[in-house]
Amino acid sequence: MKIALIAHDKKKPDMIQFATAYEPILKKHELYATGTTGLRIAEATGLNIHRYQSGPLGGDQEIGAMIAQNQMDMVIFFRDPLTAQPHEPDVTALLRLVDVYSIPLATNMGTAEILIHGLDRGELGWRNLVKEKEGDQ
Ligand code: PGA
Repeated sequence: MKIALIAHDKKKPDMIQFATAYEPILKKHELYATGTTGLRIAEATGLNIHRYQSGPLGGDQEIGAMIAQNQMDMVIFFRDPLTAQPHEPDVTALLRLVDVYSIPLATNMGTAEILIHGLDRGELGWRNLVKEKEGDQ
């Protein structure tokens, strides 16, 4: 599965903690991240991760483009709900696309844990069916 990992600055420690704790599960999947989040995760873990631009420089839009092609299977996006972001429109657009394509999304640690355990139990298998069906069209 293809998983996007994004964290706003004040939530990056949470993301590192999450990626470290679930490294054995995450390493079985294809990981994508915005620039700084990806760098921090790569420094803290042995995970191989494709890094896009930093969020404020277009990284959220790049991940959004993958979602628009129905290429992303899960999004873990630790948003900072208490700090204004210069790229708020990009954040909103990304979250909108996630809902357009019904992609499993976690915006905090509590939900991220549920999703990652579900992923490991194979509960996202339906994503393969969606992608196969799209391929048929
Ligand atoms: P960053 O971007 O990982 O490059 O910090 C995240 C964001 O703010 O969207």
